[in-house]
Amino acid sequence: MNEHDMAKAEHLLVSSGFEPACEIDEASIVLVNTCCVREKAEQKFYSLMGRLQRAKKKRGFILGVTGCVAQAEKEGLLDRLPFVDFSLGPSAIHRVSEAVLAALDKRTFLDFSDNGCHSSLYVRPGVSDGLVRAFVTVMKGCDNFCSYCIVPHVRGREVSRSSGDVREEVEELAASGVREVILLGQNVNSYNRGASDLSFPGLLRSLNGVRGLERIRFVTSHPKDLSQELINCFGTLSKLCEQIHLPFQSGSDRILGLMNRGYTKEEYLRKVGMLKERCPDIAITTDCIVGFPGETDEDFRETMDLVERVAFDGVFSFCYSPRKNTRASELADRVERQTARARLQELQATQKAITLRTFRGMEGSRTEVLVEGASKNSKDDVTGRTRTNRIVNFKGTPDLRGKLVEVEIVKGCANSLRGLSKKE
Ligand code: SAH
Ligand code: SF4
Repeated sequence: MNEHDMAKAEHLLVSSGFEPACEIDEASIVLVNTCCVREKAEQKFYSLMGRLQRAKKKRGFILGVTGCVAQAEKEGLLDRLPFVDFSLGPSAIHRVSEAVLAALDKRTFLDFSDNGCHSSLYVRPGVSDGLVRAFVTVMKGCDNFCSYCIVPHVRGREVSRSSGDVREEVEELAASGVREVILLGQNVNSYNRGASDLSFPGLLRSLNGVRGLERIRFVTSHPKDLSQELINCFGTLSKLCEQIHLPFQSGSDRILGLMNRGYTKEEYLRKVGMLKERCPDIAITTDCIVGFPGETDEDFRETMDLVERVAFDGVFSFCYSPRKNTRASELADRVERQTARARLQELQATQKAITLRTFRGMEGSRTEVLVEGASKNSKDDVTGRTRTNRIVNFKGTPDLRGKLVEVEIVKGCANSLRGLSKKE
């Protein structure tokens, strides 16, 4: 999501006549986008700002901050970092050129209001040649208020973009050669909730008809809102890929309650069962937090049980990090850092083995790969993804970029698959 926000900012600045710099040492504007979902990201930001302060002293440039830290700190950011020229919350990204012009005029520019959310939502990053997959924002904000999460506090309430505008952008992308779109929203299930426009399954049906587009994915889906209608789209809509990111966060009902997630472990497993029934080969990835306040060994065993039972393709797992203004940050009974770290390591080791088992199980099968371009690791190889979002590397030439190639999987590795195309 942050990467996509930066693509939008870049597009806006380029439209205003600025050119992207190749190196940071050559840039006359440096824009730092921020995340504050976990403390570590925030710490990284402050240490980067220390380095940028020194560089700015040496050879003056305009320094702007955007994103969640800007929104969380508001004017306070300037007390801590007085050398910053402008600061914009995520809903004010559409004002980036204005902010740069103000800075050129030696005026500090700040915008943390949520009023601009409509304008920011409608900013489209430009279409660049050769892009095979592209992100498309369908909604912003979140109304869920999971007790640990800062996102609703910094990204504001849910606002959906009109389906007509989304479809128009996807048509434009497909006409420019994009073959795969990933629809973005904190909880896409709530897309257009209460509005007279298309629901999320309706949007998927509409996009399934876009000419030239081959694949559709979306992220993220909240388990409590995953409807039968959305589940039925899998295996029905030809372009909707057999893959879903469905964060479970914890396998313990007690912890799920404290997290305000709105479902139990059994309910989560039931939704997974419905997805697998509809689409047996669906690949499921997830997010999980360990060391939430009060998490006992028994709670953690429930998490491990869920991980083993679902056999996810991948788990993005994190140690709990207390965040300002969230309800969980007031909970007593913090889990010791060392204990949380040990749980994280155990979970990651188990998941690594599960992913490897799944990938090895694919050896000998044939699958369709959308080629994204040359592989970073070998000049003779190209890299692409299966419909299940697994990365495949195989021998091939760059002209395959954007093509769908049938590949035989010859080896399952820890994070990717090795393939062989028919021509080899
Ligand atoms: N809207 C998405 C998540 C956005 S944040 C969703 O609901 O799935 C991405 C992930 O960061 C979350 O799924 C969660 O696993 C993790 N996360 C959020 N707040 C956190 C915190 N305070 N400490 C640790 N991990 C956190
Ligand atoms: Fe955060 Fe929960 Fe909203 Fe996801 S659904 S952004 S975890 S509050």
